[in-house]
Amino acid sequence: MGSANDRRAATRLFEHLETGCENSRVNARSPDAPPAPRTTSDILILGGGVIGLACALYLLRAGRSVTVLEKGSAGCGSSHGNCGTITPSHAPLNAPGTIGKALRWMLQADAPLYVKPRVDPQLLGWMLQFARRCNEREFRRIAAVKSRLLLRSRELLASLIADDGLDCEFAESGTLYVWRDARAFETARADTRLLEDLGIPVTRLDGAAVHALEPALNDSIVGGHFHPGDACLRPDRYVAALARAVTAAGGTILENTEVQTIRVERGRIAAVESSNGTHSGNEVVLALGAWSPRIAAMLRLRLPIQPGKGYSITYSRPARAPAIPLVLKERSVCVTAWGSGYRLGSTMEFSGYDSTLNRARLDALPRGAAEYLHEAEGPRIAEEWYGWRPMTYDDLPIIGRPDASRGAPGNLIVATGHGMLGVSLSAVTGALVAELACGRQPSLDIAPYSPSRF
Ligand SMILES: Cc1cc2nc3c(=O)[nH]c(=O)nc-3n(C[C@H](O)[C@H](O)[C@H](O)COP(=O)(O)OP(=O)(O)OC[C@H]3O[C@@H](n4cnc5c(N)ncnc54)[C@H](O)[C@@H]3O)c2cc1C
Repeated sequence: MGSANDRRAATRLFEHLETGCENSRVNARSPDAPPAPRTTSDILILGGGVIGLACALYLLRAGRSVTVLEKGSAGCGSSHGNCGTITPSHAPLNAPGTIGKALRWMLQADAPLYVKPRVDPQLLGWMLQFARRCNEREFRRIAAVKSRLLLRSRELLASLIADDGLDCEFAESGTLYVWRDARAFETARADTRLLEDLGIPVTRLDGAAVHALEPALNDSIVGGHFHPGDACLRPDRYVAALARAVTAAGGTILENTEVQTIRVERGRIAAVESSNGTHSGNEVVLALGAWSPRIAAMLRLRLPIQPGKGYSITYSRPARAPAIPLVLKERSVCVTAWGSGYRLGSTMEFSGYDSTLNRARLDALPRGAAEYLHEAEGPRIAEEWYGWRPMTYDDLPIIGRPDASRGAPGNLIVATGHGMLGVSLSAVTGALVAELACGRQPSLDIAPYSPSRF
């Protein structure tokens, strides 16, 4: 368990990160500063998270010039402290029964899913749309549509990392979902059938087989699902490696550059005004994660995204760290260990753009993990963190050109709303955006992800 000093150091680090991402107004220009830049590129990308950077790399590979505008530092948003699992095995959020579970959890301050009670018409509308989709038919439809993207991305990611030599502790580790409750494990049997139907390999294991596979787990585990096709990486290193690859390929990343207004002329984005100059591109990619609706609203484009706040704690590696990334099912805690560290992450909190660190929710992570693992925490806390996942109510990302006939600018491409799976979906999103921007036929049917579906 980390000492009080460790915790304070971690909180300081968090505050530093928060300043990097949240308060970019600090970069107001002094009278002596050099003139603000004016950039023109083939492609202007708004947002330097894992999605914006993956798009940048694929576009550069396709021979386009690229500038990325990022209000903090590259990868400082949700892409920084997430769990780094690459999971075609991840079922959509809208499983039948989710609403009942969410209502029960509303009464519990440290529950994995929490909606802060408040009057917010946008959140209410989002919740109603989400609730309408919590049924077997929609669950299966969304699982099918999403798995096509996830499987393609898993394939592309391995080659992206190998081809560009991205140093990010990538491992073809699989993931192991484990249960302590025999009834819940039995109920989950149906998930394996669904995943098998979708072409996602899964092995159902009893408690003894789980122990043989992952000795870091204690003997309270009654069973598990092993997904050999899944993988993992260290996300902060992945975004740093992507940023280096973008720069090495001739792309420009302008940090401390906050998009402020967008000028539309004759149905196209003519210029993007930022805290650091004026920028233009033949095509503009909107990849602002949970912040996307704010900028989209300037373009009269409705993107129903809510920030789904999650937390993580990063430690130095415990002596008995698991070799396989774990999902501790009843507590919804994800555990990932790399050579360089160890992370517990989880929770889905709908509290708007709230930037406080909730101690009760952070503390629930090691407490939940201790029920499953011999050694739930590392010796030293390196960082306590939150991130805002860009959540859509149908749990599908938004990739494509918005409908110009409804007034959207003709040179805009949207790449956002990746929810709980932005790292997993980064490669396929980059590839699809590059195909769209280069006028090629997308290699996958992108109709289900269209921004016009709302
Ligand atoms: C606890 C937790 C665990 C997770 N675990 C996983 C996992 O295991 N696997 C997985 O695949 N996904 C996981 N995710 C989800 C994943 O982190 C997100 O889906 C992904 O990071 C979204 O990437 P993004 O680039 O769209 O958004 P972000 O990374 O948030 O990037 C958006 C960027 O836009 C910038 N920006 C905002 N406004 C402006 C502006 N006006 N001007 C310029 N720049 C601006 C921000 O600073 C930010 O850098 C997890 C998320 C959380 C919170």
